[in-house]
Amino acid sequence: MEKISRISDWIGARPVGPSDGVVEHLLTDSRSLCFPETTLFFALRTGKGDGHRYIADLLTRGVRMFVVEQLPQQPDPSATYLIVDDSLQALQRLAAHHREQYNIPVIAITGSNGKTTVKEWLYQMLSPDYVVTRSPRSYNSQIGVPLSVWGLSERTQIGIFEAGISQPGEMESLAAIIRPTIGVFTGLGDAHQEFFSSMEEKRREKWRLFEGCERVFTIGAGDDPLLEGKKLCGEVCRYLGMSDDVIAERMKHLESVAMRLEVKQGRHDCVLINDSYNNDLSSLDTALDFMMRRPERRDRQRVLILSDICQTGLSEQQLVRHVRALLQSRGIDIFIGIGPVLSRSGLGYGFADTESFMRSEVFQRLRGALILIKGARSFRFENITAALEQKVHETVLEVNLAAVVDNLNHYRSFLIRDTSREVRATPFVCMVKADAYGAGAVEVSKTLQDQGVSYLAVAVADEGAQLRAAGITTGIMVMNPEMSSFDTLFEYNLEPEVYSFRLLDALVRAAEKSGVTDFPIHIKLDTGMHRLGFDPEKDMPELLRHLHRQSALVPRSVFSHFVGSDSDDFDAFSREQYRRFSVGANALQEGFSHHILRHICNSAGIEHFPEYQHDLCRLGLGLYGIDSRTNAMLSNVSTLKTTILQIHDIPANETVGYSRKGRLQRDSRIAVLPIGYADGLNRLLGGGRGYCLVNGHKAPYVGNICMDVSMIDVTDVPCQEGDTAIIFGEALSPSVLAGLIGTIPYEILTSVSSRVKRVYFQ
Ligand SMILES: *Cc1c(COP(=O)(O)O)cnc(C)c1O
Repeated sequence: MEKISRISDWIGARPVGPSDGVVEHLLTDSRSLCFPETTLFFALRTGKGDGHRYIADLLTRGVRMFVVEQLPQQPDPSATYLIVDDSLQALQRLAAHHREQYNIPVIAITGSNGKTTVKEWLYQMLSPDYVVTRSPRSYNSQIGVPLSVWGLSERTQIGIFEAGISQPGEMESLAAIIRPTIGVFTGLGDAHQEFFSSMEEKRREKWRLFEGCERVFTIGAGDDPLLEGKKLCGEVCRYLGMSDDVIAERMKHLESVAMRLEVKQGRHDCVLINDSYNNDLSSLDTALDFMMRRPERRDRQRVLILSDICQTGLSEQQLVRHVRALLQSRGIDIFIGIGPVLSRSGLGYGFADTESFMRSEVFQRLRGALILIKGARSFRFENITAALEQKVHETVLEVNLAAVVDNLNHYRSFLIRDTSREVRATPFVCMVKADAYGAGAVEVSKTLQDQGVSYLAVAVADEGAQLRAAGITTGIMVMNPEMSSFDTLFEYNLEPEVYSFRLLDALVRAAEKSGVTDFPIHIKLDTGMHRLGFDPEKDMPELLRHLHRQSALVPRSVFSHFVGSDSDDFDAFSREQYRRFSVGANALQEGFSHHILRHICNSAGIEHFPEYQHDLCRLGLGLYGIDSRTNAMLSNVSTLKTTILQIHDIPANETVGYSRKGRLQRDSRIAVLPIGYADGLNRLLGGGRGYCLVNGHKAPYVGNICMDVSMIDVTDVPCQEGDTAIIFGEALSPSVLAGLIGTIPYEILTSVSSRVKRVYFQ
């Protein structure tokens, strides 16, 4: 807690307005507002937008303290404005000042991979003994680090912070804010390599973080990065005085970070957000923030099921007061507190333990709600989750939404543009057509919207309308607008691609009839695919005439699509496509005074032809984890898995399945899976051509794949009924399956049928 007047001095601001405010919370993203009276908002100018635009809205929501680069035209007399040259620098300076007040061990973690995992593990190992302040999620950037360090307080006994950099020069500012006493280095990969002239430069840059450290720990070079990560955490704990027995015991229970914040479909139309593995105040706040930002149906009640929180360093009264404030500011409709402290707190419903809650009416009555489940491990909240979960078909597609973000960041790193700020613009059109390449368009779009992408693109209008109904507000392009869908386009603000005169004229007529004006459209040029599009030379004069004689539609962008940017063999043709595109785009632009956006790169193009990036890039396959140039796996997004229903021992010479195709050469163990071609398991994989993975072993499909069922040979695979079979995922890429049957990974991904339940992880 700090007086606004002192903060003003520290950051060298020119203050305007009252000087008596007290600051407890810092805010850079207006959506995360929680405690308006004690919040200081930093209006940052980043690639994602200009924070100054949110000041008016924040004033109406009760915020009274702002750091700005520019005073609003009509400043609110009850608000304090601290005027600075650079809001980001001011934020960093404030955090550095705050840090100076604490003389405690502070651990800084950097490296190319695994920072968040190591941070969470260290937290898991240290938090039983110490009050630890750590970065929430992966707040490791030029903005995230100062926000994290601000979390240090008198109660903190150890600080753990992540530092991530993408360009030379950034680490120095992070080092000045964290001022670590202990360094942890998780190794060097090749992420963000493009901004560094060499690995050596990158290494030197990262090590600047550790300049004042008394000890630096480095990850070992073994093959298993998880094991090395655990050992690294063990070494740090030993240095901090933890005994070997305690270290060994706690290491056994380390849980993977991906387990946190799962979103699942629950029974009785409930949606569950499961964070039932760790429970402390900062992760509660993070989870509530996640819940609040999630676009949801309005009529859903928000329910929080929370267990007592241990090791906060707060008194019972302080804790209850804090939780009460969170409930109010985060708009929780129903609160259910479990454990001795919360059950007598007077907040919402209280239960002494998990079992009495599960026997209660309150539990039975949960309907149509969005439920955040958050409890310390000893309360065994997994029982609540299991009971609330919808019993799903044994075959599921697990979708890792954090991996979608990783992949987006991977492609972000190929962008060439002004990189002076840490949050670079996100000029992506993210393709969520075909139900987001099978992963599920609604959840993927929510994630991408939160990442601030410029556009989402769907194939047909109805897909766009579904996204709007689910609360998506990002711009949406419709790649293939059917003539019958124009009213849907206008009603839901879905921007069509226009590729022919017939479509253009019909769209103009419909728009004029509905009284629509200046509706954005996207002009498609055919530069060599010979699919859809205007001819960039011959058609342009006539296209300009058509566009100029009406005012219902305006060209927002002009684009074309590469035929073969995924292969070097077609480089000359790709360059010719680009030349034709430029001719058409220039001709169109000459007819208008506003800037018409240009885009031609798809996933492969972003990387291979960075000089053709222009205003937007259209990202498809790469977002879902597959590099279409190399077929390499980026961060794996989708895992299709199922369960062994039954196992039979069958003698040699018998056959398995329809048409007696699978004749057994030896006495065999045959397992049956509840997945068939109607679920999207390609029938060509049958007859031993393809395989799935059971307990890490290859198990080939035997005989013909049936509509709903398939059989696999597990003679050499240790397994039993109920075990999981991976159809595709991290260890068996869709590209591999595609290769076996002569298709492309796109088809494997988009074939997973809608009857297969999607389960999402954050
Ligand atoms: C599907 C599609 C893309 C995305 O292509 P990827 O190879 O998946 O990146 C880009 N542009 C258009 C016009 C598309 O239809």
